[in-house]
Amino acid sequence: MGDITCKFGGSSLADASCFRQVEKIIHANPQRRFIVPSAPGKRDTKDKKITDLLYAWHNMAKQGLDASEPATIIAERFSELARELGVHFDIEKHLAEIAAQVSMHATPDYMASRGEYLNGRLMAEVLNATFVDPADCIKFSKSGDLDPVTYELLGQCLNGSGLFVVPGFYGSLPSGEIKTFSRGGSDISGSIVARASTSALYENWTDVSGFRMADPRIVPEAKRIEEITYQELRELSYMGATVLHDEAIYPVREHKIPIHIRNTKDPDSPGTLIVADRESKTPVCGIAGRAGFSMITIAKALMNKERGFGFRVLEVLEEFGIAWEHMPTGIDDISLIIRDEEIGDLGDKMMNEITKRCDPDEISLSPGLAMIATVGKGMNHHVGVAARLCSALAGADINIRVIDQGSSEMNIIIGVEEQDLARAVRVIYYAFESWT
Ligand code: ADP
Ligand code: ASP
Ligand code: MG
Repeated sequence: MGDITCKFGGSSLADASCFRQVEKIIHANPQRRFIVPSAPGKRDTKDKKITDLLYAWHNMAKQGLDASEPATIIAERFSELARELGVHFDIEKHLAEIAAQVSMHATPDYMASRGEYLNGRLMAEVLNATFVDPADCIKFSKSGDLDPVTYELLGQCLNGSGLFVVPGFYGSLPSGEIKTFSRGGSDISGSIVARASTSALYENWTDVSGFRMADPRIVPEAKRIEEITYQELRELSYMGATVLHDEAIYPVREHKIPIHIRNTKDPDSPGTLIVADRESKTPVCGIAGRAGFSMITIAKALMNKERGFGFRVLEVLEEFGIAWEHMPTGIDDISLIIRDEEIGDLGDKMMNEITKRCDPDEISLSPGLAMIATVGKGMNHHVGVAARLCSALAGADINIRVIDQGSSEMNIIIGVEEQDLARAVRVIYYAFESWT
């Protein structure tokens, strides 16, 4: 029986009744000792997440606009939480400190981190737990990667009896400046805390009863996945299954600490267990997709014989600082699939540079692509997976613009028009839901 690290997402901490529920969950099992809270999330669909309000505050202040609206909403939400939970929490003092930092040009990372910081302070009061500030022990290198010294530093901070609260989402750079992970990054903090505290289990408490075979907003009836491997999970979360941040598996994977996805509002539900390895009973375990991709297509006669052609294309991308996702190729053509946010407003310049260096016969950049991953370690050597997927899409009259299967044979990725995304996910789900 070892200790358990519990991360609670924003929707699990949106109001005082959520906090009470979290308290109940923690007290129900004395092994639950390391608590990682996110910032308060939405109470209903029209509500605002505290993290978004903090970014808004920063943006407005940066442009010299009056940011009293987001600042007031944040103050009210935390005051209400403290009042309803009956704990002493001097929110005015904390907000004055944030406002002072804003006037000294606080970074967006510092601002965004305050949601988790304040919620962590509040949660430590509620639970009578030791508060550990990740600024002191979750360390990034200058280049922004996690510094492995973190595990030792954090391990020392978590050494002792009782409960510990470590806010999610941030740490600090060697300069001492606050740095956050990317959005949804409290999942990564939870994983780091699980490893540093040598927990036997990492419970990730959210607002769904486990990982479903497809996004429940697209396929509400999608089946729950009982067990999934770290790698399958990463492939799905990277492609849009946002239940867990795709990088959250790395800190725990080496130590094989399982991650258990559970529902705060339904703690008796079995959830999904993420493990190092599993027996696969079906070829496909999940489907995930996201919009927001563009495709560069380059054609040139006898490209196959031209040494260094691909290198020159990729060199341009590297020089522009653009990461790419997939590169399907033919004999005389090559395509690159890139996230729109990577291209930003560099599209024209990048295309001109590729044209200059590669002298293609044809070149185009087309936006509006959605990518869908169909994932499962059981598809390795299973005949007919791609055939089934393609014929299901053909039956629904959905055009596949690109198709790519990694050599690990664990993932088939297809590109479709953005407007076909939801329909394609549904069609693929039903093609594989009960296929063994
Ligand atoms: P938290 O605030 O707890 O971090 P998130 O909003 O980040 O929670 O993640 C949970 C959400 O992920 C769910 O509410 C659901 O809408 C979404 N989601 C996307 N894909 C899936 C999937 N395959 N299974 C379950 N939930 C999914
Ligand atoms: N609060 C942060 C966000 O909204 C981190 C997290 O919730 O995991 O992205
Ligand atoms: Mg999340």
